[in-house]
Amino acid sequence: MDLMEKVTSLCKRRGFVFQGSEIYGGFGGFWDFGPLGVAVKNNIKNLWWRYFVTVREDVFGLDSAIIMNPKVWEASGHTGSGFADPLRECRKCHHRHRQDDLVEDKCPDCGGELTEEKKFNILVKTYIGPVEDQSCLTYLRGETAQAIFVNLQNILDTFHPRLPFGIAQIGKAFRNEITPGKFLFRSREFEQMELEYFVKPADDQRQFNQWKDYCLKFLQVVGYKKGNLRYFDHPKEKLSHYSKGTTDIEYNFPFGWAELWGIARRADFDLTQHAKFSGKKLLYQDLVTNEMISPYVIEPSVGVDRLFMSLLLDAYTEEGKRTFLKLSPLISPYNVAVFPLVANKEELVKTAREIYLNLKKHFSASWDERGNIGKRYCAQDEIGTPWCVTIDYATLEDGTVTVRDRDTTKQERVKADNLEKYFKDKLKERIL
Ligand code: ATP
Repeated sequence: MDLMEKVTSLCKRRGFVFQGSEIYGGFGGFWDFGPLGVAVKNNIKNLWWRYFVTVREDVFGLDSAIIMNPKVWEASGHTGSGFADPLRECRKCHHRHRQDDLVEDKCPDCGGELTEEKKFNILVKTYIGPVEDQSCLTYLRGETAQAIFVNLQNILDTFHPRLPFGIAQIGKAFRNEITPGKFLFRSREFEQMELEYFVKPADDQRQFNQWKDYCLKFLQVVGYKKGNLRYFDHPKEKLSHYSKGTTDIEYNFPFGWAELWGIARRADFDLTQHAKFSGKKLLYQDLVTNEMISPYVIEPSVGVDRLFMSLLLDAYTEEGKRTFLKLSPLISPYNVAVFPLVANKEELVKTAREIYLNLKKHFSASWDERGNIGKRYCAQDEIGTPWCVTIDYATLEDGTVTVRDRDTTKQERVKADNLEKYFKDKLKERIL
């Protein structure tokens, strides 16, 4: 089994990710997150929100509607050819393939001859209103970014920020991808964490460099292995006409280096488009010079699901007979697991339950009393729990418990009364 298969199977077996609508045979490009998957996703989103909104004084949060006025997508260029993927159809089996996925000039499924490239719009259509015709046609958002642009004036009017400042949003996005696949890498419903950072045009390059750096540092806090992340600068000739440059942070996936996080210099393209289509001025007034500025935008945009998958791939470790997920304790589904040494000794279970319920007030804690300790360690290792606490006979005598570390398997005795501080110290974050 290769790494992708191992991680995909672990995700299902342990309750991280299930195929969407599985009992009906699934539905291509849609996934459901089980109890452990939700926990990891929430940890990712909370950490991102913390570093991109809470610890900063220049970023404002937003949670906009998924369905917007269809004019938004006309203005952004998504309903034209701008957001369309170049596709080629096989003349024999009629399968469609993304041009950028093709290695050879023939159909990867049947070897048939391919048509010329055609653009295919990947926005998901829906109808809002009494009839299903053109007048009621709209779209599920293909990215969260556009809602930020259309709310700029609201943020300016209510919070009066000075440039540079940003607006951040986490939310679902939908794309009718032609070739969903590679597990969560390309799905049709996914979540994005996006920031639009508005700057004075002259400050654009400097801010772009800073955000590239900040995003990479964030990934280091999240705990990737060294050497599995790199920058990739998009070649000038492949950039959209308005773009001043885009750099991706790529991850070394089992199928090769691929985009994890896109950081784009979008200049004032989006704001001028929305100004044109809405008839509203979307300008910033400089408080000192009174000059009206059309701010430039830096856009760091990353997918939660793609990040999730890359983190699990990165953390998957086999050492001898042991398999464990070396996830950062900030990301793992549980911070700690608590066990009574044996399940049939009332006093042990009672003390262990007390310790567990107390830890649960401060940490995400899991309880396990099935099988023997070895099996329980094994199960916790596989889901990435960094510490296991065992309550044994010595606990009843001297009030200490065993704390076992996932990565080193080393054990130490800690006073049960000190556990809260012990784990809080271990979980202390590095602030960027
Ligand atoms: P790609 O070239 O892989 O289609 P993109 O350049 O269209 O990606 P963006 O529009 O820049 O992607 O989206 C920003 C981020 O959203 C990506 O870096 C990725 O992490 C995530 N993302 C985009 N499309 C998908 C998808 N279909 N499934 C999961 N995540 C996605």
